[in-house]
Amino acid sequence: HPRPGGSFLPYTMPSISSDRAALCAGCGGKISDRYYLLAVDKQWHMRCLKCCECKLNLESELTCFSKDGSIYCKEDYYRRELRLASIKEP
Ligand SMILES: [Zn+2]
Ligand SMILES: [Zn+2]
Repeated sequence: HPRPGGSFLPYTMPSISSDRAALCAGCGGKISDRYYLLAVDKQWHMRCLKCCECKLNLESELTCFSKDGSIYCKEDYYRRELRLASIKEP
């Protein structure tokens, strides 16, 4: 069974230099910073990994959450789950 939570840890990675620079999944720009974050199989500028609801920067969070390709902070993730659970009620 897949676990219900979409929790993941963002990894800080030293970026690859020059021509093989990754593209940021947040802003689409080239990552030329010294470090970038790796989360949900995508690369992000440190400043671009944000909760899609409240725009909290998740760079310093120990966990963040993903659902359907969107990134959430813990609070918004659980708020969303609660909302969906209540919608599912008959
Ligand atoms: Zn970016
Ligand atoms: Zn949030």
